[in-house]
Amino acid sequence: MEQVTCNLCGADDAEVRFPSTLPKGQSLADWTAYRCTHSGYGVHPTIVRCRHCGLVYANPRQEEATVRETYEAVKDPLYVEEREGRVLTFEHHLRPLERLTGPPNGRTLLDIGAYTGVFVEIAGRHGWDAWGVEPSRWAVEVARKRGLRMIQGTTETADLPEGGFDVVTMWDVIEHLTDPLGELRRTHRLLKPGGLLAIHTIDIGSLLARLMGGRWPWLMEMHLYYFSRSTLRMMLEKAGFSVVQIRAQGRYLRLGYLMNRVAAFMPWLGRPAEHLVTRLRLRRVAVAVNLGDLCTAYARKPLSPPGENEHPV
Ligand SMILES: [Zn+2]
Repeated sequence: MEQVTCNLCGADDAEVRFPSTLPKGQSLADWTAYRCTHSGYGVHPTIVRCRHCGLVYANPRQEEATVRETYEAVKDPLYVEEREGRVLTFEHHLRPLERLTGPPNGRTLLDIGAYTGVFVEIAGRHGWDAWGVEPSRWAVEVARKRGLRMIQGTTETADLPEGGFDVVTMWDVIEHLTDPLGELRRTHRLLKPGGLLAIHTIDIGSLLARLMGGRWPWLMEMHLYYFSRSTLRMMLEKAGFSVVQIRAQGRYLRLGYLMNRVAAFMPWLGRPAEHLVTRLRLRRVAVAVNLGDLCTAYARKPLSPPGENEHPV
């Protein structure tokens, strides 16, 4: 485990927000905890809040190298089974994005932390020239078998063209990174001037998160950062972006899958409901689940100020 300072303002002055729930003396270095369908809800190291800027983060946490090796080694066959729900969610993520970008017309899009490439595939179908970068060798292999253009690695290790992309997306990725500010700065360099970044993450400032406190299900070991809309905005601006909007954005599930999940938590309600949904042949109906505690930020890399290139240093 390593102690870290605030990634947003650099201060080493934080107060405990949620005490560790790890079993005494144990640090869960088990990679199965990093499968993205793993239900490690409620198990996390100490989570602190920076007294200067308000950023909430896990501290101490796994060493950077351990986190990196873990994500490179991830294999998760369950995620492939859940593909259908992700397809629906990503189809819906594209709509507000394309309202801001206009029609794709073959412009370039890079999905960071693309995993098995579900978003890359959907964006490609919509007409984007879509690429993915992803550390998990297994996930990259799964994506390549579907003919998708995937680069194994991270924005730090992969050879990506500076100023090469019109759009960069990060779906449920930033909360897992060891250095989100560094990632946003690299993303800024990858975008063309005027290019758009979309980031979807959990929102610790949301009403639900504040009401649930320590029982908010997204407090878990694999999450290293817990942004609010305000800390996310501050970090985007520090990395050179101009924030267009931050809005609550949920996810989409088939009704059958949703009832199955409800049954896992509340069998008395979920089981009869799942039975009913099956009887009425509604299992495949898509429903929006938006509890307000997930949000998407859209931010632009500003066009170079006029005249900037006329005064070489
Ligand atoms: Zn801070």
